[in-house]
Amino acid sequence: MDAVEVGPLVGGQEEEGTGASRVENPGRFGELVGLARAADAGSVDRAVRAAEEAQREWAAAPTESRTALLTTVADRIDADVERLALVLAREVGTPLAQARGEVAAAAGAFRNAASLAAEVLEDRRPLDGIRVRRRPIGVVAGIVPWNAPLVLAAQKAAPALVTGNAFVLKPSPLAPLAVGLLARIVADALPAGLVASLPGGGDVGTALVDHPLVRKVSFTGGGPTARAIMERAAATLTRVHFELGGNDPAIILDDADLADTAERIALSAFRRSGQVCYAVKRVYVPRSLAGEFVELLERAVDAHVVGDSLDERVTMGPVNNRGQFDLVAGLAADARASGRDVRRLGEQADPASWDRGLFARPSLVVDAGPEDETVRVEQFGPLLPVVAYDGLDEAVRLANATEYGLASSVWSTDEERALDVAERIEAGVTFVNGHVLTAEGQLTIPFGGVKQSGMGWENSAVGLDEYLDHHSIHVQRMPSKQKEGSR
Ligand code: NAD
Repeated sequence: MDAVEVGPLVGGQEEEGTGASRVENPGRFGELVGLARAADAGSVDRAVRAAEEAQREWAAAPTESRTALLTTVADRIDADVERLALVLAREVGTPLAQARGEVAAAAGAFRNAASLAAEVLEDRRPLDGIRVRRRPIGVVAGIVPWNAPLVLAAQKAAPALVTGNAFVLKPSPLAPLAVGLLARIVADALPAGLVASLPGGGDVGTALVDHPLVRKVSFTGGGPTARAIMERAAATLTRVHFELGGNDPAIILDDADLADTAERIALSAFRRSGQVCYAVKRVYVPRSLAGEFVELLERAVDAHVVGDSLDERVTMGPVNNRGQFDLVAGLAADARASGRDVRRLGEQADPASWDRGLFARPSLVVDAGPEDETVRVEQFGPLLPVVAYDGLDEAVRLANATEYGLASSVWSTDEERALDVAERIEAGVTFVNGHVLTAEGQLTIPFGGVKQSGMGWENSAVGLDEYLDHHSIHVQRMPSKQKEGSR
């Protein structure tokens, strides 16, 4: 397969950039997927200035012409699904079928934003003489991580663009290729300069955050980076929007359908090898059912096939990077050393090439305690702790005893009971009898985190609001004029 090359996309043109970094397949050590030429401070400045220039005309265009162009973007992404999915699968390690799903979800984000724009952008006239208009913010910087780069970038670019902003993307150096190709598709369909993409590391992100013409930073990634961004953004009072990590609890009630619950949790927790911000990351099960549930969960998790992302049988690809791989291996080793029962499950698709990639088997800590490290941290990998609880109040207390608050789930055959528990959970989203964002959910649910899991919301009409200011025009008539008028 040919290597892909991406570079800084500035003012509609690809620039030379600085040194090219190799992006390798995490499932085949040494296999080059492509090269990413990094941006520098000069390209950041040129990109932001070109975006600001293009944004004025874009904001003045009728909403229908912007929505039409976003629909064109969605069609072009769909038409390129095979190329994008293949690059994504090889650079991130996402199994190919799931990578195709991510491309479709990225296209869906553009369609959703287009379908919601007219209503969100409509002027409001609450009283005679008062008009409340919606206005774009200006140049928006979108900084994204490596785990699902296409959909995470599209979830920012689509609402920002349809509401009349310009968009400058900063991909992760761990997955810059597919999203660089996506940026090119989006940029080519829209006015020159409106969309830019700046590969590179934290220094490029910092230069973007510092740029005085960037009016908002929409960031998805880890808490420590968000803190650094917030500090720097304070200098120019640039708005920030954060989608951060989670430690999603799944609370199983005593009347849950244990077999179906085990199947669904095994899918949610280990999808993309657990590298999903809102995956199930800890399970709470009634103590009296723990034995039966663990047996069912073990069977469901054992059905995963781990291996090369292009192997059609594979349900879990490699872990994306060495840091993440070592973190999860260390957590499992520490749990085992402290006496916990850690079960390594799943089938190795190709045992002969196992050591030639960052492959990790899906693992369960079947007797975790509520204070264990595996329960308290965001593992972001294929390791899931199961904690037994004695009363529902205790389960809710443990679920909420964290600074995270992204998603969560409640499992029960009694929907009313599940809803009562759901209402007590501190999270941006609580699922009942599932733990996945569906296509309808992506259109209608404001997605985001409470507490230290985030600030601001993506998807749905609320997600468009994040990229708009208000501009109120209030006509305050002079008494004399009113009299004249009434004559
Ligand atoms: P990260 O915070 O290390 O990096 C994210 C992005 O920020 C990268 O593009 C990186 O180059 C850039 N960056 C690094 N330092 C910067 C700085 N000082 N200024 C500006 N930009 C900088 O995160 P990661 O390791 O790539 O991703 C994993 C994290 O992302 C996990 O915590 C995960 O839960 C979270 N995540 C959250 C969501 C969500 O929607 N809530 C979705 C996916 C991932």
